[in-house]
Amino acid sequence: MQFFKSVAVLIILFLHSNYAFSIPQKEPLNSFVIIIQPIVVQGDDGNNPASMALPKNLIDETFSKAHVDLHFLEPIFYSNTKARDGVIDLDKIVKMATEDGFIRGQGEILNMFFVNELQGKKGPVAHGMLNESYTFIALGTKKTTDSTADILQRKHLQALVITHEVAQNLGLKHAVNGENVSNDIANIQTQQNDSERSPATYSLNDYQIRELKSPLVRPRIDILAVSDARKAILDETFEPYFSKLQKREIETFIQEKLTTSDINDLRRYARKRFQDAVLPFSETERNALTYIVKEVNVLLLQNNIHLMANHPWRFIKVDSWLCGGFAHTRGSFIIFSQKHLDSLTKIWQKDINEKDSLELLREFGGLLVHEQMHALQRSFPSKFVQLNTQHWDFQKAIIESDEYITLNQVSNPDAPSAEWLVPKPQQPSEFYWVRTLLKEGVDLPKMGKDFTDQIFTVILKEEKYQLKRDYDNQLIINSIDDLTFYRDSYPVTRGIDHPNEISAYMFSKVFRDMVSKTKDKPELKNEIEFNKWIELEMSKPLNIGLD
Ligand SMILES: [Zn+2]
Repeated sequence: MQFFKSVAVLIILFLHSNYAFSIPQKEPLNSFVIIIQPIVVQGDDGNNPASMALPKNLIDETFSKAHVDLHFLEPIFYSNTKARDGVIDLDKIVKMATEDGFIRGQGEILNMFFVNELQGKKGPVAHGMLNESYTFIALGTKKTTDSTADILQRKHLQALVITHEVAQNLGLKHAVNGENVSNDIANIQTQQNDSERSPATYSLNDYQIRELKSPLVRPRIDILAVSDARKAILDETFEPYFSKLQKREIETFIQEKLTTSDINDLRRYARKRFQDAVLPFSETERNALTYIVKEVNVLLLQNNIHLMANHPWRFIKVDSWLCGGFAHTRGSFIIFSQKHLDSLTKIWQKDINEKDSLELLREFGGLLVHEQMHALQRSFPSKFVQLNTQHWDFQKAIIESDEYITLNQVSNPDAPSAEWLVPKPQQPSEFYWVRTLLKEGVDLPKMGKDFTDQIFTVILKEEKYQLKRDYDNQLIINSIDDLTFYRDSYPVTRGIDHPNEISAYMFSKVFRDMVSKTKDKPELKNEIEFNKWIELEMSKPLNIGLD
């Protein structure tokens, strides 16, 4: 789509429109969500990213009519000069970005590339791949749009480009090609040089709303059918998981001794068994889960926790034999075992009384928000880096591991990277590395029971984080009880092997306090800081409108 000609007309229209200054209030949460992963393409050297803008309020305005929220994840930056400058084909860019690990989801997340030029055309120009989960947007620089255009006007234009292309991804045909869209009435799919068109009038008509059947449009509370869940449980688009598993942990997760030692065969078998474990939700489970998530969202919104309430909730159910029935997450999905759903349906019923409802909200709600924190950690990583390093004292590092640690590792799907170190007090170049491992000498370890927390010492030497060894070249191993200064600095006792778990357990505690409307004055510095971080990073409506 070429936007040049319409720019001047649109800008004049905006100048005369009071629309921009009075954005109508929309319903707090729409029942459908399209998750969008912005991918900002930059130079090979990691500099000069393409401009990106997400005038979220203006975009939401259009899709709200169809009860759809566009939910933008934190932008990721992809270094690829040729892709940024539009000298290679879009299909090729998608292929390269997939190989380089920048594409998110299994066709149910819209990957939105921001580039400088599209196949030789300068912005503003865009291309949504029809019925596919990729879209390309070149917003152009200030120069190529209009140097006199102020920020608000440019935002309107950007909103127009983005909504138009998202509509294209949803399979809404351009007006000129479809008989159900009048070309006389301004609409997001009509011709761009339509002078009648302004943001106040571009919208979806009823026909288009009914047409929103794309796999990208998902219910806000998305309870997956078995076929979708079997795909989703293998997601590795946010980070590798199955492709890093080791033999002992695979045996532990699936509770089966395996004879082969070929690591690829083992990982293939692990994927198969995870898929085998997927179960359908019963109708009662669906109703109960929908009920409790809605209650959780109401309480979150009452307490201004916008970040979590706005994030869609997506569920997979598995049999309780998998991973010891532990609740966990993968990609944007929460995985519950039959055991958890039984605990929910035991209490829930259609006309649940207030006491039971509060009890569920405290217990099951507390579990839900813990798991949703893990989904947020994947989708908004820099917020959590901020928490771990600025509010808390963790140090992010790539540590040169040891075979003993690798072979006995327990890959926590909710804390997939063992990249956080605890600085050793008064020792500037020494750190502690807290790891959960499988106990040695157990033939078929059990989840939880046969885990052991071991603390290794790491030294920073020649700019590398290396494991410290004693005079006999043995690893120095401590237990968590040797690290009281660290252990006692958090108000939770579980999950202190990784900051992802600490923040999930701590948020769960905050949530339970919201339910019971009690709040002790925090005393620990890390708790005070956590509350500050919630205020800063979870309480404000998402606004990533930068360019
Ligand atoms: Zn967790």
